[in-house]
Amino acid sequence: MKNSINLGDLKKAFAYKSNIELRYSYYIFKVLQYPRILKLLSASANGILKHKLPLKFMIKNTVFKIFCAGETIEEAFSLIKLLDKYHVRSVLDYVSEGEKTDVVFERNTNIIAENIVKLGKEAPGNYVSVKLSGLEDTIYLESINGKQFPIEVIAPFRFQKFYNRIDLLCKTARENNVVVYFDAEDRCMQDIFDAIIESMMEKYNKEDAIVFNTLQMYLKDRLDYIDFLIQEATEKKYISGIKLVRGAYVEKERRLAYLENRNSPVYDTKPQTDNAFNAAADKCIKSNTVVSTCIATHNDESTLHAINCIEKYAVENHQRKVRFSQLFGMSDNLTFNLAANGFNASKYLPYGEVQKAIPYLIRRSEENSSMDGQVSRELLQLEGELQRRSS
Ligand SMILES: Cc1cc2nc3c(=O)[nH]c(=O)nc-3n(C[C@H](O)[C@H](O)[C@H](O)COP(=O)(O)OP(=O)(O)OC[C@H]3O[C@@H](n4cnc5c(N)ncnc54)[C@H](O)[C@@H]3O)c2cc1C
Repeated sequence: MKNSINLGDLKKAFAYKSNIELRYSYYIFKVLQYPRILKLLSASANGILKHKLPLKFMIKNTVFKIFCAGETIEEAFSLIKLLDKYHVRSVLDYVSEGEKTDVVFERNTNIIAENIVKLGKEAPGNYVSVKLSGLEDTIYLESINGKQFPIEVIAPFRFQKFYNRIDLLCKTARENNVVVYFDAEDRCMQDIFDAIIESMMEKYNKEDAIVFNTLQMYLKDRLDYIDFLIQEATEKKYISGIKLVRGAYVEKERRLAYLENRNSPVYDTKPQTDNAFNAAADKCIKSNTVVSTCIATHNDESTLHAINCIEKYAVENHQRKVRFSQLFGMSDNLTFNLAANGFNASKYLPYGEVQKAIPYLIRRSEENSSMDGQVSRELLQLEGELQRRSS
C-alpha cells in the first residue's frame, strides 16, 4: 500500500499556495540559482548584524518570506492553523542565533516555554524545536564539551543554569504533551548536548518520546552512537527520541578540522552520508519499541527508504513511532503527500526577528544555491505546478 505512495503529486503539494504565492516562490528560487546573489545576501546580512542597516526590508520580503513563518507568534500560529487543514503538523522554531548575554538566554527560554504551553492549549499535536546555542554562549559550550558528565563533576553555577533552562523546557513539554526536538549544531558542542539530552530522555521519556535529540548522519561516529542509544534506552527502560538529519555544516566542519590539523569528523563523500542516513533510519525503525524516529530530510530516496522500513518491520501505529519532517519553504511534495497518505508529516516553522534569523537564512540559501542540489528540485516542482495550473 504505502509503497505505491506518489511523492510527486504537485496538486496536493502546493494546494495551500495561491497562484501569486507560487509564482513568488518560483522567482525567489530562480534568483537563488546565482551564487553572486547569495554572496550579496551574505554581505548585506552581515551588514545588518553589525550595523543594523535598513536592508531588513529586502531580506524580509525575499528569503525570509519564503523560509520563515513570520516575525511574531501570531503569524506563526496562523500558518500552523493553515497547515493543519492539510493534516500537516508544525514544529515551531523560535529563531535567535548568535546571542551572547544571559538576559537573552533567559528570555529565549521563557519564550520557548510559553510557546510550548500555548501549543499544548491551542494547537495540540504540534511540536517545538530548540537550538541550545540560543540558551548559552557557544564559546562557553565549546569549552565544556567533552567534560565529564553528570553535572556535579563540572558543577559550576553557569553550567547549572544552562542545565536548568533545558530541564525547564523538557518539564514544560512533558506537562503539556508537546514534543521537543533539540537541534544539532557544530560537532565541537555535540558531546555535551548528547549527555544532557540523554539525561532528559531518561527523565521525561518513560512512557513515550517527548524529548528528541538530533543526529547528523554526515558524522562518522553517529551509527555507533545510535547503537549506544538503543542499548541505553533498553537497559534504562525509556524511549529514545532520535531525529535524523544529514547535517547542515559540512564545509564548516571540514574547515575547522583542517585548521586544527585533525581528521574531518564528516564523511568524505555524499554517497557515504546517504548510506549512513539510510542505515540509521533502518536501525531506528527496526528498534521501534525503544526508539521514536523523526526522518528529517528533503531527500525523496531516503523518505521512500524509511517508508519501506515501516513496512519491512511491520511498525504498528507508525504515526506515533516514525515521523517525517521538512523545512518550511522546501520539499512541499514530501510533506503534503506524506500527510495525505496517512503519515505523520510536519514542517519546521522558524519565526522571529529578521536579524536573528539571518544565519538560518544563509544556511538555507546556500543549500538552495547549487544547481545539482535542492534548487533544481524546488524549481522543477514549482514550474510543474505553475504549468499544471495554467493548462
Ligand atoms: C526538518 C529538518 C530539520 C533539520 N534540523 C537540522 C539540525 O538540527 N541540525 C542540522 O545540522 N541540520 C538540520 N537540518 C538540515 C539537514 O541537516 C540538511 O542540511 C538538509 O536537510 C539537506 O539534507 P537532505 O537530507 O535534506 O538532502 P540531500 O540534498 O540529499 O543531502 C544534502 C546533504 O548531504 C550532505 N552532503 C552533501 N555533500 C556531501 C559531501 N561531499 N560529503 C559528505 N556529506 C555531504 C550534507 O549533509 C548536505 O546537507 C534539518 C533539516 C530538516 C528537513
